[in-house]
Amino acid sequence: MTVHVVKFIDTGVYHCGYHSDKSFGAASYLIVRAEGNILVDSPRYTTKLENNLKMLGGARYMFLTHSDDVADHEKWSNHLGCERILHLLEVDHSTAAVEIKLEGSGPWNLGDDVTLVHTPGHTEGSVCLLYKPHKVLFTGDHFAMGELGWTIAERYNKFSVPKQLSSVKLMLDLDFEWMLPGHGRRTKFRDVEDKNLSLRAFLETKMQLL
Ligand SMILES: [Zn+2]
Repeated sequence: MTVHVVKFIDTGVYHCGYHSDKSFGAASYLIVRAEGNILVDSPRYTTKLENNLKMLGGARYMFLTHSDDVADHEKWSNHLGCERILHLLEVDHSTAAVEIKLEGSGPWNLGDDVTLVHTPGHTEGSVCLLYKPHKVLFTGDHFAMGELGWTIAERYNKFSVPKQLSSVKLMLDLDFEWMLPGHGRRTKFRDVEDKNLSLRAFLETKMQLL
């Protein structure tokens, strides 16, 4: 429909574009679902993107993976009337008004089709979103495919590298085939086995280096 909102084949997920410097240029996505659309992390606010998102049904929720990727959350909340979701450990003065603050270690469900998984490491309150019908995991800055393969981007770690690796292990138990990060490549695995083989190989290499 527009060059600025790109749909991933058959997933009901769109890449919003309009990356914001305030979110360190991170990608944001829109999940289109009957129970209410979810905006994952915050794009830069523009009226054009607002109109595009409204044509896709707007957003009921804005899920923020962690405190780095919140950018124009307040403007989006005002313009789309979405409820913002962020882990309490990530809340500061700029996000104090977020409507839903996740507490503890979850997991938390948004209906039957969405699970929020606490993946501490990059930051203490980093959370991934699993969209079950299309097996899509949104990882924020927790884990991504970079130029040289899988990465937890240690140099940007703000909490604990060992905890981040433990949280990568948690991903072995999650049923997903797509991985959509804030930075890096969007990845489609052949199937869940393929995903687990790939993650195990990464973890083994990392454990040897520690
Ligand atoms: Zn981050």
